[in-house]
Amino acid sequence: MPCLSVMIVGGGIAGLTSAIALRRAGHKVTLYEKYSFSGEIGAAVALGPRSVGYLQSLGFDLDRVKGCQSLNIQILDGRTLELLDSQKGGGSYAFFRPDLQQELTYLTGQVDSTEQPCRLVEFAAVSRIDPEKGIVYFEDGSQDAADLIIAADGVHSKAMDVVLGVACPAKPSDTTATRIIVPVAKLKENPFARIMASVPGHSTLSIRPGGGAYLLGYWCHGFEYFNLVLYRYGAEDVPVIAMDKMRGETTREDVKVAMNQFHPDLGTVCEHLLDVLPLWRLHTRDPVSRYTRGRLVVVGDAAHAMLSHLGQGANNAIFDAAALGTLFANMSVVSAEEISWRLRLYDEIRAPRISATQILSEVPMFEQKWQKNDEVKKILPETEIPQNLKDLLKWLQEYDIVQDCRERLQEHIGNPANNSAPGMGNSSRRECGGTAEHNQANEG
Ligand SMILES: Cc1cc2nc3c(=O)[nH]c(=O)nc-3n(C[C@H](O)[C@H](O)[C@H](O)COP(=O)(O)OP(=O)(O)OC[C@H]3O[C@@H](n4cnc5c(N)ncnc54)[C@H](O)[C@@H]3O)c2cc1C
Repeated sequence: MPCLSVMIVGGGIAGLTSAIALRRAGHKVTLYEKYSFSGEIGAAVALGPRSVGYLQSLGFDLDRVKGCQSLNIQILDGRTLELLDSQKGGGSYAFFRPDLQQELTYLTGQVDSTEQPCRLVEFAAVSRIDPEKGIVYFEDGSQDAADLIIAADGVHSKAMDVVLGVACPAKPSDTTATRIIVPVAKLKENPFARIMASVPGHSTLSIRPGGGAYLLGYWCHGFEYFNLVLYRYGAEDVPVIAMDKMRGETTREDVKVAMNQFHPDLGTVCEHLLDVLPLWRLHTRDPVSRYTRGRLVVVGDAAHAMLSHLGQGANNAIFDAAALGTLFANMSVVSAEEISWRLRLYDEIRAPRISATQILSEVPMFEQKWQKNDEVKKILPETEIPQNLKDLLKWLQEYDIVQDCRERLQEHIGNPANNSAPGMGNSSRRECGGTAEHNQANEG
């Protein structure tokens, strides 16, 4: 089977998963990361059943990665701890980010006899991308070329400027997040443990009375750690961090003061913090209808940074990778036309769902105004729009990106009007390793 040379910029969840997916689809992958591959910060991330299922299909091992299944999500009054709502976890899992990063990095090198491992290059900072020629320029003056370039360089990426032809930086939001990791062993006799961390697998969302803040808690790292995220999105909390900054300092004292606004027993958790991580100002990107141009596709936060109220950023980074892995599988021909129509199909499939998810992610799940989804109505068919929390979780958790891509690929191939379907547009057929133009750039 002919294969593509694929170059990926950025080694976060989006870049690493795309690398594994494209390598599994039979392509030759090189991934360039600005820093080290072991630099992930010690917080946690929750992934839905379809993301986890897709990662498992790539060899992801839930035991090795110490995944913790989320059995249910309980919404509590943060002051009284009264139960307001409870929803099933639906097969979601939570992971300690360093565990996830380690597992994904490991999988880039796991190959069968027919595959080549991904080439991972650390401390390689990309400065510019030429999407038409398929060339990536590095800060040290060197360059490299490929058939397909995947920009996965995070929220501050400039790759979408290249796609859209205008500057479109991510925008700072009013929402901040303080992430806290608590070792469960230290909590045994703590009142907090009796309330929040007594049943492994229970996730809780405690709403501050009056709104504007809530505390999200769930397990990770083989149920050894409890992950807490304090979200503040009320105007009173904005000055805590300068508007133009992504991160701000936070101290145990700051966390303690904020926790005092919740049930007193929750505040006692501050005595057991493993680490006080920086305060994050969350950034967002506006919904768009395309993420591709020429040989370039932009994925993950670089393409569609969103607020993390619904925990969908990493899930969508994995869906991006799954879509690319599916749409670029079984290629009988490698040509510019072939890459082009597959990327167009990628845009058609990904843009509506990503855009709707970005909009729905603007408010916490307990504040959704179901009847006011006018913006979402412009994107999704009426029947698909979630009408309550149960529906929303179902919409987020049950969508099967791989099946969607397979069906759309079949429709596309089966349409005789499409004269650039696979195997038909082979005007510049070539084997893996790039065009003469690409090879020249590689030598330069
Ligand atoms: C508080 C919080 C909680 C969250 N919780 C969840 C959750 O529960 N579930 C969920 O799905 N999502 C969650 N998210 C969102 C999720 O973390 C992100 O969407 C996801 O990590 C984005 O991954 P990425 O690979 O696109 O970007 P990143 O992780 O930012 O990776 C980008 C990589 O590119 C590299 N890079 C940057 N510039 C260059 C360059 N010029 N050259 C080469 N490399 C470069 C960077 O060093 C980095 O390694 C949360 C986010 C926050 C802030």
